[in-house]
Formats: sequence, structure tokens, C-alpha cells
Amino acid sequence: MTTIKQVLCGAAVAGLVAGTGSAVVGAQAGLSTLTADWLLAAEHVLLLGTDGTNLDKILEYAYNDDSGFKMLMDRGITAATTIAGHQTMSTPSWSTILTGVWDDKHGVVSNVYRPEPYTTWPSVFNLIEYFKPEVDTTVISGRGLFTEIASTGGYPADNIIGISGGSTSAEMDALVTQETIARILATTNNPNLDTFMFSYQSQVDHAGHSYGGGSEEYRDAVINVGANWKEILEAVAAAEAATGDRWTIIAVTDHGHQQNPDLFGFSLGHGFQSPNETSSFVMLSLAGNDAQAGGQSLSYQTVDITPTILQAFGIPMRSDFDGVPMQADQDILNGIVFPVDLKQGLTDAINSFGYPNIGTDIMLSIRALAGGAGFFLESYALPPILNYLQTIIDQDIFLISGLAEGAQWVLKTVGGAAADVLTDIGRVVAYFTGAGVIPPNDAPLPLPGSAEFTGSVEALLADHAFATPDLGDSDLPLLLDVDPLVG
Ligand SMILES: [Zn+2]
Repeated sequence: MTTIKQVLCGAAVAGLVAGTGSAVVGAQAGLSTLTADWLLAAEHVLLLGTDGTNLDKILEYAYNDDSGFKMLMDRGITAATTIAGHQTMSTPSWSTILTGVWDDKHGVVSNVYRPEPYTTWPSVFNLIEYFKPEVDTTVISGRGLFTEIASTGGYPADNIIGISGGSTSAEMDALVTQETIARILATTNNPNLDTFMFSYQSQVDHAGHSYGGGSEEYRDAVINVGANWKEILEAVAAAEAATGDRWTIIAVTDHGHQQNPDLFGFSLGHGFQSPNETSSFVMLSLAGNDAQAGGQSLSYQTVDITPTILQAFGIPMRSDFDGVPMQADQDILNGIVFPVDLKQGLTDAINSFGYPNIGTDIMLSIRALAGGAGFFLESYALPPILNYLQTIIDQDIFLISGLAEGAQWVLKTVGGAAADVLTDIGRVVAYFTGAGVIPPNDAPLPLPGSAEFTGSVEALLADHAFATPDLGDSDLPLLLDVDPLVG
């Protein structure tokens, strides 16, 4: 059933037309045809993220009708991608995905969160909220990184949903899935509202760190995420059927995983340049583009995702993006093929990727080790030592407990400082190995209310008045720093 949309004024129609990303069609068709249903449909973009998920494992375990991965491949275009030559760590790689620039620009080199990269290189949330504040933007994540990024800058996302609860990452992912489905279905109550949603699944990366990418646990996690995404895609189909709205769906992972289980009770899992670690993928199902169903792209990159999302809403590109809009760039469109056997085509692409050149490989390994040292000390090495000392303190043994207390104080003070120093050294090493060395061309987004602000203040205020962040569901402070295992 297609619902006829109520349109309040000409400006709203113009906004909706721009929102379809079909400015050419609108100009050719002329204003008299703007009452066509499809032009009035809201634009929705859903970005699905899964951490540390190897495409070859998806093809091995989840290339079947029970899986949302396969549903997405059937519905749109899939690319086996590689991030060889870039750090295979989570925060650097998600920063590339959510800013449209590589690490030589955003400069994020470790999982220690700093806001500066996202005030210098605005996130997709900031760019949408600045240029099109009427788009309802949402992040749903059990991981503090994404609620942080979405909160940073002058134009935060409207709905920042930090999911807490669940005793395992699989349970947390299930909660994320439920919330995502609820919000997709809620769009049927607000049929004229354009939306952008980012929904994040963590369990595959956790399984990779604990058991290795070649483990049964990793297989189960891939299957679980596929099942979660199937439910989400079914909710999208229900919303599309109810409203006639158009949904663009993009799926991505940040990096792959080493195959072997860890040896010391923790695993680096990824961070270096082996093909299993640099392996990544992009799936794009463009709203209304059935002609590309089942296709394979030979040229998508993870850095193209932010430009692609902006293009869907008719938002201008930054001049200094490294990525391009996948649905509009002619070179990328020329790189789409329709293999007889998609699974084989993707497997061939995965197998074609190797190591970067030896200089890049060594440089990035040094950067990963230097950048990760402080985080490693603070997250993995220090807590067990402090806990051990605490057990001695708790036993209240004459003199010994006092000594332990003193030792714990020294370690807390010096250990934390050492971690900070190591993190700083890591950033210096990162800079000299090429991270964050290229400054932006474009001016920073002006702050709301400042003289240079050229967006619509009314729209911005209205947007934030009507779409109050659902803080009842969020547990932002608790989420910070509680997830060191996702690397
Ligand atoms: Zn990880």
C-alpha cells in the first residue's frame, strides 16, 4: 500500500525532491509533476556495521536464505574490499567509514577516543545535521565509540542510543537489533521524515579475539549477525510496504581477523597487514535500483560510504573527501559486473588481495604497535595487577596489605601516566608514519548560532525540539571505556 504524503509547502516539496538525490529528474520533470507519489516518499538510509567480519566466512557460513547477508547480496551490489595500506584497527577504520577520509587525514591511530579528529573531519552525523537538520539521525550501538562520535561536534545525531545490558556481545547485539527494528517500524508513524540510522553489531570481532577467525565461535557469530540482519531487513520491507518510502541499505565491516586463536588469554586478532586482516566488504542496496540486484562491484571502498550517504540526501560533497558517492561516480559505476556465480566472483576478488608493499607493511606495523601500546597497558596489563594487589589489600595482612596499597597507588598513578605517555608517543610515531599529516581543505563547520552559520536555524531547532534524544534508553557514561575487547 502506498500512502499519499501530506505536503505542507513548496519548500518542503523542494526539500523532499532534493532528499531523493534526484535533482536532475526534478528539474526535468518540472514542478507540475511533483505530486507523484514516489517524489514525495521520504528517503531512508540504513547503515549496518559488523565488526571484524571476514567476507570469506560470510560466504562460507551465511550464504543462504536464513541470512541477512545473502538477502543484502541478492538485493544490491556486493564488493570484496581491502584496506591494505591502512591500519586494520577498529577506531581508525570506523573513522574512515564515518568521515569519508583515510587515516593520513583523520589521523586516528588507536582505540583511545579523542574528539579532535571529528571536529577537524566532521562525521557523517555532523554533515547531515548541518546541511539537512530535518533528517532524523540515529545511532544504535552497544559500543561507546559510536555514541561518542555521534555526540561530537556542533551537530550531533538526534537519537544517540547507547545499548547497555546483555551479558555477552551476542545478547547486546540482539538488543541492538530489537531497537533497530522498533525504530525502522516507527518510521511508519512519521511517513514524511527522512531518516539516517547506523546500527552496529559487535559479536563477530569478540569471537575473533577470543577464539580466532577460524573458530566455530567465529562461525556462530557470523551466522548470528546474519540472522539479526535478516530480521532488520524484514522490518525494512514491512516499512517500505506500509509507507511506499525508499530505503537505501549499506553494510560494512571495519577489518578482518587473523585465523588463529590467541595464545596468552588475549589476542591482537588484527592490526597488521595480512590479507585476512585487511579483508573488508561493502554491500550497497540503493533504494529503487532493482536493476543492480545481485551485482558485484570491483571498485567500492569503505571510504566511499559517507559520500554515498550524503549523496542520498542531496548533501554536497566535501572537496577533500577521499571517497566518492558509489551511486553516482562514473568510474565506480563502470566497475559493476554481474557474475554468473556471485560467491565465486567475490571469492576470486578476496583471493586477489595481498600484502601492501614491504615499506608500508613495516610502517603500519610500527604504527600499530606504538599506537596500541598505551591502550594495551591501560586495558589489559594494568587491571589484573591492580586487582591482584587489591586481593592482598582486602586480606588486611599486617604490613603486607599496607605495602600492597602503596604499590597499588604508585601503579595507578604512574601506570596511568605511563599509558598516557605511551599513547602520546604512539601519536607522534603515527604522525611520522603518515597519519593525520594532511589538513582539511574545507573550513570547519561553523558552530550553530555563529555568524557564518548558513543552515536553517529554525529547522535545526525544530529538529531538536521534536526529536529528543531517547536518553531513557541510553547509558552513555557507563558505556565509555567499558568495551576494551572490541579492538
Ligand atoms: Zn577487534
